[in-house]
Amino acid sequence: MRTRFAPSPTGPLHLGHAYSAILAHDMARRAGGTFLLRMEDTDLQRSRPEWEAAIIEDLAWLGLSWDGPVHRQSEHIARYNDRLETLTGGGLLYPCSCTRGDIRAALSAPQEGAVAPVYPGTCRGRPMASRLPGDALRLDLGAALARLDPAALVFTDTGPEHPGRHSVDPEVARRVIGDVVLGRKGDGIVAYFLASAFDDADQGITHVIRGADLFDYTPVQVILQRLLGLPTPVYHHHRLIRDEAGKRLAKRDDARAIGKYRDEGATAHDIRRMVGL
Ligand code: GLU
Repeated sequence: MRTRFAPSPTGPLHLGHAYSAILAHDMARRAGGTFLLRMEDTDLQRSRPEWEAAIIEDLAWLGLSWDGPVHRQSEHIARYNDRLETLTGGGLLYPCSCTRGDIRAALSAPQEGAVAPVYPGTCRGRPMASRLPGDALRLDLGAALARLDPAALVFTDTGPEHPGRHSVDPEVARRVIGDVVLGRKGDGIVAYFLASAFDDADQGITHVIRGADLFDYTPVQVILQRLLGLPTPVYHHHRLIRDEAGKRLAKRDDARAIGKYRDEGATAHDIRRMVGL
């Protein structure tokens, strides 16, 4: 077993992250496997070295150890860009100039409960030659799905909420995921879906252990794996740590930051107990 904890250093480590990290660490250690630490810091605007340092300090305080040096995605941008080129060459990406406001306006009805509205496809069909500086690059999901064998779009989940083998349903993928951004607006740097899927393969990750909030987005990573000829790891989407009101913890919930509990005198053992381990 080879797994990883892959935080984005855009805020403090909170209870939800701690649960993810401890779970992945303990599963790897129990299996005599490998546990890696990866900083998903390709969002150069929001990622901060001081958050990275704080996360590393908290993980060490929790008693976790990782194998090898920390993998920092910002140091490997060129490798991810090569993968963007592969998809561009395959005619699967298109440039997009839409702002969030444009996207909202183009949607006839607000999409209730959706994390981010699914892109309505305004720029789909635009040739790459029309790319303007600052344009995002989007995956033409329909074109990608048309090119892939549906039987190969499968993954296994060993987590408690979605156990079993899953097939990617193209209709659901269109409705829930849509034409995701793979090259970010502004700097054109690769976005999470591609960088993370590429690294999981490149680092030989056999088990991806992460929160159940990412389950719905796993199909897009499986689609990218097939398009790029990468293997699919086993996924273990774990339950989410919620606050007393049942709300999922987010980075802005600084009240749940591990550093705060630590300052108040909690021990690593207390944190394990608080997340139900
Ligand atoms: N960087 C992502 C996050 O902050 C990690 C997602 C994953 O583990 O694939 O949640």
